Amino acid sequence: MAITDYPITTKFQEKDWFHPNPHSGIDYALPLNTPLEAISDGMITSISTNDILGNNIRYKTSTDEIIVYGHLSEFKVKEGDYIHKGDIIGLSGGMPGMQGAGHSTGPHLHLSVYSSNGTLMNPIDYMSQVQNNNSSPFLFPIMLILLFIILWKFKKVIVYSVVVIMGLFVIFIVS
Ligand SMILES: [Zn+2]
Repeated sequence: MAITDYPITTKFQEKDWFHPNPHSGIDYALPLNTPLEAISDGMITSISTNDILGNNIRYKTSTDEIIVYGHLSEFKVKEGDYIHKGDIIGLSGGMPGMQGAGHSTGPHLHLSVYSSNGTLMNPIDYMSQVQNNNSSPFLFPIMLILLFIILWKFKKVIVYSVVVIMGLFVIFIVS
């Protein structure tokens, strides 16, 4: 199960009693110690702890976005590591009272994405962008090749059909 398959408890830019300011990311209700996979390729730029995000990881993507994971119970990477989409970079935390939980009412993952110009963006928009970028270099040529194969086969079917029909017509005339 991917981290993004877990229920969202606080949406991007949402405000509630616990988040008086617009929420800077998305909170996913992950059980404690769930392995956290990277949502894209990148390089770990910071591993740190503060009162808000608790234990947190930041990494920079090849297209200069900054991805932030907050409230971890354990780090599985170190600064300078190169990571690929799907690599496990840590375990989720957020249990109040636990070391590194930060500002949290229960186990969850906080995920933030900063665009290349430094502004916050909706992580869901970023993830759909990553999906499209991954598929586009291969999808178009594959579609073209498939189209050619289908047309080629279809052409053969037409040629065979015409030959068979003409053959039957000739047999009909001769007989
Ligand atoms: Zn949050």
